[in-house]
Amino acid sequence: MDHAHQPRVVIVGGGVGALEAALALRAIAGPVPTIEVVSPSDTFVYRPLTVTEPFGAAPSAELPLSALRETHDVAHVRSTVAAVHPDAHEIELEGGDRLRYDALLVAVGARPRAWLDGAVTFRGHGDVPAVQEILQGIREGRIDDLAFAAPPGASWTLPLYELALLTAAWVADENITRINLAFATKEQTPLADFGPAASATVRDLLGDRGVRMHHQATGFDGRLLTLDGEPAIRADAVITMAELVGNPLPGLPHTDEDFIPTDDFAAVDGVPDVWAVGDATNYPVKQGGLAAQQADTAAAAIAAAIGVPVTPEKSDPVMRGLLLTGVTSAYLRGDKGTSDAAFDPLWWPPTKLAGRYLAPYLADHHQIDPAKQQLHDRHPVEAAAKDREEMRRLAVEFAEADARWGDYESALRWLRTIEWVDGVLPIEHDELRRRWESELAASR
Ligand SMILES: Cc1cc2nc3c(=O)[nH]c(=O)nc-3n(C[C@H](O)[C@H](O)[C@H](O)COP(=O)(O)OP(=O)(O)OC[C@H]3O[C@@H](n4cnc5c(N)ncnc54)[C@H](O)[C@@H]3O)c2cc1C
Repeated sequence: MDHAHQPRVVIVGGGVGALEAALALRAIAGPVPTIEVVSPSDTFVYRPLTVTEPFGAAPSAELPLSALRETHDVAHVRSTVAAVHPDAHEIELEGGDRLRYDALLVAVGARPRAWLDGAVTFRGHGDVPAVQEILQGIREGRIDDLAFAAPPGASWTLPLYELALLTAAWVADENITRINLAFATKEQTPLADFGPAASATVRDLLGDRGVRMHHQATGFDGRLLTLDGEPAIRADAVITMAELVGNPLPGLPHTDEDFIPTDDFAAVDGVPDVWAVGDATNYPVKQGGLAAQQADTAAAAIAAAIGVPVTPEKSDPVMRGLLLTGVTSAYLRGDKGTSDAAFDPLWWPPTKLAGRYLAPYLADHHQIDPAKQQLHDRHPVEAAAKDREEMRRLAVEFAEADARWGDYESALRWLRTIEWVDGVLPIEHDELRRRWESELAASR
């Protein structure tokens, strides 16, 4: 690499991997390189909380990519990359213009593909009305059997488990008793990527909420969901996630499924000065937290390549997943053969997108997720002792505030949170519960 001029780093994409890489590179390399992010969209969309929108939560936040110019001297080029020309060290934009790079980082994500005819495929904000229509169908008694079907191919299925658990909590809040909830997946145990302890916790959560587990779904005719190696089950409606296929860039190598092959330092196989991270790569698990860790690895490798005195380290990713359950959140972690699950944060800040630089950035600049510190893991016992007390205090405070507003439903939900975490509701709170339950009944 020629260092006579200011090194030019180009990042393709405007999602999790691209943003984390831009922030990490600026942190590691300081003002040395110019950094440009090429993405067709003007905003970064925060997807993790879109699963809560069908149940009444506000639309998820969007962050203008132009903000990166002010905060980190990162320019946004609004365009789609049509091809990479590695020999010339150039990318070709839609329309034919070319941009030179010294180092190129590709974070173009994967392409979502609907795979189950007749099902609602949940990809984020745009699919919220279709899920709300299903909830309305349940309320009106048109839907008695609802199934959640995980795709057979590559996908990040944690949001589908969240939709199932959030639906179960919503059904309980609505006092609907005749609904049957089912979850079909090829996994032997739910969310097995997090390891046995975490997976057993998710299995128990689903069981406690009456969500029955089934084998992989293979087809849906509007009435029956056919399953692999098991008799079909009745389903009035089915919710699924998209299957992810690669998003190949002409000029770069790709696997049969169109994913970009990379090594342990996130370098693209056989292509000098090009790195790739996230859902676009052939790494088998597609998750934002992993994309962010790969982006940190790539940023260090790029910094070293442009002459910054830093020793790049091999990527050694840790799985961190925050599962929204409708009552309290479950923290799942899988790391080199160990598996943890807890209802207190197992990492700090306790964000859904566990990116070392992205999480604090989103919190500081855009009030997304309460993250003010650098990402670090916590021991389950330390986490439990510290957070339980604080959580209990906050839950009572919120419950009382909701009750003052006359929102007894929400107040009672907060009490259920305490009961869920402690296993029992203290006597003084039990009295509150009875009072609020009768207020709620009187208001109906
Ligand atoms: C509903 C839902 C909820 C989720 N919740 C979580 C969660 O809680 N935690 C978590 O860790 N993960 C979560 N995920 C997964 C997470 O969103 C992805 O794994 C993550 O976004 C992958 O990051 P990425 O940078 O590889 O790709 P993306 O974030 O998808 O970004 C790809 C970017 O590349 C751009 N692009 C594409 N092609 C081109 C091109 N040719 N030229 C220029 N730009 C291009 C796109 O416009 C986009 O900006 C969730 C996913 C979904 C669908």
